[in-house]
Amino acid sequence: MPPGPHLETTLAQANHYLDPATGAIVPPVQPSTTYARDERYELIGPYSYARSHAPGHDALERLAAELDGGTDAQAFSSGLAAVAAVLETLDPGDHVVAPRIMYHGAQDWMRRVAAKRGIGLSLFDSARPEALREVLRPGETSLVWIETPINPTWDIIDIESAAAAAHEAGAFIVVDSTVAPPVTTRALDHGADLVFHSATKYLNGHSDVVAGLLVTRDVEERWEEIKLVRTLMGGVLGAFEAWLLLRGMRTLAIRFERASASALRVARHLEGHPGLESVLYPGLSSHPGHHVAKKQMRNGFGGMLSICVNGDFAATQAVANRARVFVRATSLGGVESLIEHRTVVEGAHSHVPENLLRLSIGIEHVEDLIADLDQALGDVP
Ligand code: PLP
Repeated sequence: MPPGPHLETTLAQANHYLDPATGAIVPPVQPSTTYARDERYELIGPYSYARSHAPGHDALERLAAELDGGTDAQAFSSGLAAVAAVLETLDPGDHVVAPRIMYHGAQDWMRRVAAKRGIGLSLFDSARPEALREVLRPGETSLVWIETPINPTWDIIDIESAAAAAHEAGAFIVVDSTVAPPVTTRALDHGADLVFHSATKYLNGHSDVVAGLLVTRDVEERWEEIKLVRTLMGGVLGAFEAWLLLRGMRTLAIRFERASASALRVARHLEGHPGLESVLYPGLSSHPGHHVAKKQMRNGFGGMLSICVNGDFAATQAVANRARVFVRATSLGGVESLIEHRTVVEGAHSHVPENLLRLSIGIEHVEDLIADLDQALGDVP
């Protein structure tokens, strides 16, 4: 059998859309919330009501499933709506395992579910590879949630060994692959059961859509429940957002490649800077997760890195305030570069050091980014 097209080709052509009536190569936005029935009250087409299904979702979900090598996908109105749908499938008495440092919003949901629904939650230290196995409870742990690279320390978790450990314990494993989209990591290929993306980030890439995606390896009972939860909870993506996301995804490969190349140059430039305690980037050979990252990130280490300033809270904030090209804002994966004093954003449960600045590298000229950081760090001793 001839090999299928590369992901870059699939993305650029977004499932080879061709409207037979007009020849249009771009799908239309279909905003209808409801779909007509005939005299026998049979649906005229495959759609009934947009809270459960709509044409824009179908095109997007087919593409998402293909990119991650899954059998099915679901699009949600935000990344967190998708996280909530997964957590909604848990029963009282279930046990969940997740990293101690991870995207704080998803962990906030886990803490909430644990407090309200009698679900156990154990957090492990992602900097120690053996820590995940230590908190697993065979026969009791039902969900292992990992993120790699981990936001905002960019620790790397070995998906293959995490999946093996989860499955041995009888749990299913979800990988938050927001920072490593399928052009670089396909978590299902490494043993994950479900892949999660905050599509708000790299997949859309233009900081103008909030969206979430789940892609499954198998269509089994839990997946059917997730689909039902989306319909009942109403966390479905709007028609225009689905259309925008599909458009954004067409340039994912080239945006990610550029951001990765620039981030590596920025990280190498800053490593050893006297104003910095450390530079955290999995593409650096000094990064403890570099070896595993090379194994599971086949096409660049991404545009996310963090710098820890040689100074206190105020000195760190002063560096962010001096940035002129980097925009002071949260989020990541957009075409514009962002700088964020992460501890301020994460709130009460944050374990992030107060001297950490998170950088999301965009697609600007890399020399402008380097010059901006050099001048912003200029006054730090
Ligand atoms: N996971 C990661 C790694 C994220 O960075 C984010 C958002 O910042 C989310 C999940 C949540 O996604 P959303 O903001 O689309 O709800």
